[in-house]
Amino acid sequence: MDYKDLANLIFPNAKDISYYEEKYPERNLKEGAIVTRVAPSPTGFVHIGTLYQALVAKKVAAQTEGVFFLRIEDTDQKREIENGTTEIIESFKDFGIIPDEGMINETQSNGEYGPYKQSQRKEIYQAYAKYLIAQGKAYPCFCTPEEGEARRGKQEAAKIRPGYYGVWAKCRNITVEEAIEKIKNGEKYIIRFKSPGREDRKIKHKDVIKGNVEFPENDQDIVIIKADGLPTYHFAHAVDDHLMRTTHIIRGDEWLSSVPLHLQLFQELGFKAPKYAHISPIMKNDNGNKRKLSKRKDPEAAVSYYKKMGIPKEAVKEYLLNIANSTFENWRRANPELDISEFDLQLNKMSVSGALFDIVKLQDVGKTVISKFTAEKVYEEALNWAKEFDKDLEEMLKDKSYALKVFGIERGNKKPRKDIAKWSDVKYIIEYMYGDKFYSQKQNYDYQVINEKEDIEKILNLYITDYYNDEDDKQTWFDKIKELADKMGYAKEVKEFKANPDKYKAHVGDVSTVLRIALTGRTNTPDMYEIMKILRKEEIKRRFEKAIAEL
Ligand code: GLU
Repeated sequence: MDYKDLANLIFPNAKDISYYEEKYPERNLKEGAIVTRVAPSPTGFVHIGTLYQALVAKKVAAQTEGVFFLRIEDTDQKREIENGTTEIIESFKDFGIIPDEGMINETQSNGEYGPYKQSQRKEIYQAYAKYLIAQGKAYPCFCTPEEGEARRGKQEAAKIRPGYYGVWAKCRNITVEEAIEKIKNGEKYIIRFKSPGREDRKIKHKDVIKGNVEFPENDQDIVIIKADGLPTYHFAHAVDDHLMRTTHIIRGDEWLSSVPLHLQLFQELGFKAPKYAHISPIMKNDNGNKRKLSKRKDPEAAVSYYKKMGIPKEAVKEYLLNIANSTFENWRRANPELDISEFDLQLNKMSVSGALFDIVKLQDVGKTVISKFTAEKVYEEALNWAKEFDKDLEEMLKDKSYALKVFGIERGNKKPRKDIAKWSDVKYIIEYMYGDKFYSQKQNYDYQVINEKEDIEKILNLYITDYYNDEDDKQTWFDKIKELADKMGYAKEVKEFKANPDKYKAHVGDVSTVLRIALTGRTNTPDMYEIMKILRKEEIKRRFEKAIAEL
């Protein structure tokens, strides 16, 4: 009786690993091409950190003409939710992250290196576990959960390292005969890796992001196949990333301390180890304390938040690249018009400690991004968002040609308007351009400098009867407001007013303010000339009458 007999008894039907090695050959890519993946679990919550990793992984693959794929890690079936895979795929799609290979729905995938869902790869893991057992590098462990509890209790009481190693690794030295007998007797077991490591020796590792790190060797006989027949994360990582020919493991730095174990697994399995790039988590400033974005406490930890708020995907990605490489900001300044795909992201320039997430900055990025959109694109995006999240806005946008005029205000020129940061801002920003909204809402007419009732009434009346004309060009339009100011005894020019403050009660700007407030109910709006052109004389007049009635 030898290890082979034991391996055959445990996994009688598992194929020889040569079958898989041939089925999933080295990828035929050009020299230097990077193969990356994102490997989330379908738990029903897609963290912004996962999107960040996916973005980085996709980008470095694309930059080198490599491959980026999506693998679903569903070996912890207790944590899984229904349609969790679809949710991940859809969330990535919302942000324009379409993997080159991987799951495309709950059960199907795209690509030659699949299946890309771990629960569909059971027999592959078993083949590699069998391979290890046959060489005496893995073994069945018959310890019961109660025995495990007792071991942990003792280790804790004695204040020593927890885990299954050294003298604590009870089943490590069971003979093949004994193991076979126990299995034949129907005893339950799991499969453990027989670690060749020693805790008093060190390993050196060069992480692409973290640089040189040193750890004690792994000496834990970790579980590789659980009681349900599925692998643990560690084992699946080694088998999958080997067979899928991943060159760079880009993942959260909570896995950095597992590197000694992972390198050992690659070594014992006879695989070439990949490169590792451990990304620092996205942090939040919480009253002066820097901490990780928390799934429980921070709504912005979920990617669904950005969708709900209507922050454009372009802004989220642009902002994440900002966090990823500090050189991005200068690049953007030098290349305001280029697409982010042209930015050369460097893994080794990513921050070693966690970058701070700044939602205000993200919104600023949103404003700039949206300011570059055409009116048509703003319309489409706002409408899509509204269909899902705001029926009232959807209704407002029904008249497309009118909406295009509204979104076209101060757009397409050198200094485009920058008032929209996200689609959920749109309704408030454009409301006053819509009669049913404007007249049904209470307007707060706060005329500021010019506040005598008669003056205001006179300005509004005169402007409509003697000055405003729908056909005027901008210069004429503006000259007319000056004339009106002059006629009313206000300074025609702000300069003039400043030079002789005692001579005038107000200036042309204050007259404009009166017009603007009567027209829109707001002190801040984009260009009033363009607003008037869209509303037209009849409507302007109606609004002025309302304002006068409410004086
Ligand atoms: N399923 C693992 C996680 O979600 C993946 C880690 C990795 O990328 O290797 O943390």
